[in-house]
Amino acid sequence: MRYILLNPGPVSLSEGVRRAAVATDLCHREPEFFDLQDRVLDALLQVYGLDPGLWRAVLLAGSGTSALEAMLASLVPEDGRLLVLENGVYGERISLVAGIHRIPSESVGHEWTRPWDLERVADKLARGGFSHVAAVHHETTTGRLNPVTELAGLCRSYAADLLLDTVSSFGAEAIPFDAPALAACALTANKCLHGIPGTSMVLVRDHALRSAVRPARSLTLDLGLWADHQQRRSTPFTPAVNSLQALDQALKELGAAGGWRARHARYHRLADRAAAALAELGVRPFLPAQESSCVLRSYELPAGREYAGVHDGLKRHGFVIYAGQAALAERIFRISTMGDISDYDLARLTAALADVFG
Ligand SMILES: *Cc1c(COP(=O)(O)O)cnc(C)c1O
Repeated sequence: MRYILLNPGPVSLSEGVRRAAVATDLCHREPEFFDLQDRVLDALLQVYGLDPGLWRAVLLAGSGTSALEAMLASLVPEDGRLLVLENGVYGERISLVAGIHRIPSESVGHEWTRPWDLERVADKLARGGFSHVAAVHHETTTGRLNPVTELAGLCRSYAADLLLDTVSSFGAEAIPFDAPALAACALTANKCLHGIPGTSMVLVRDHALRSAVRPARSLTLDLGLWADHQQRRSTPFTPAVNSLQALDQALKELGAAGGWRARHARYHRLADRAAAALAELGVRPFLPAQESSCVLRSYELPAGREYAGVHDGLKRHGFVIYAGQAALAERIFRISTMGDISDYDLARLTAALADVFG
């Protein structure tokens, strides 16, 4: 049975991407591979129309968390200080990574249900001493889209560089690349870009990359090392070759479909349709739609319904949904409409939801 994945990555693939992943055997020390690497590096900057004179794309082997870890470990210097905003699993993960690399950090914590309190953030920044701020754009824990443009403005006022986890938003949501404080963002191939797992990336301002931490805190997560090799048609280690082949095709398909704005509109339509179908069945959204991303919405489990029953019921219809995390596991379920999902798939989902919740 072919399952439609409604979890937030890995995603249901297009036929073209699935085929591209295994189309040819490629040695990563041959010119054909470096042509592929160059194409992907260029295409990544083109997604948001970034100036190659100001921005660099750096590819890594690893999951989205690898890119996040590489960004933090490579860009916050020994004498720097990091302020982390947390309102979900992934914001808290940033603090975990900072701790592991002994990056001096403080956090502004929030309940997972809450939006950022930017007054508290401003108070912290006003007390001074923070070289960097790190935060999650789309907090996949709840589907909340955090106000990163406002945060970038605050960072500028207090001369702090902003590092963003855009793992579940890059390719489908607006990202404030024009904001001078935004220094870098971390992302992955297998979420809104519709590729397969294995490759993750950091987009970073050239000046931030040039002042990358030396000596590096990690060998395999050293952004400077990967970037230096990639700039001269080389690679320090074996890259995720097949994932890059798939990503090359996925980026072509994103461009042909109208780019990130078209993908944003498409995801929105699909998410609204799923939400409307659930509303008719009495299933309520966990967050207001206007606070949610277009990528993922979370819903309250109706009284007396357990997640396992809902999950298994939908899986019998060919759909894989996603549980809430930690304390939210008993309260919510999540539906992501990222991936190659057709109108027909969505019509079938509506029928499946009616069967399971009706
Ligand atoms: C999925 C996700 C990650 C982690 O990605 P992995 O590929 O599982 O390492 C990090 N941050 C956010 C916001 C995510 O949605």
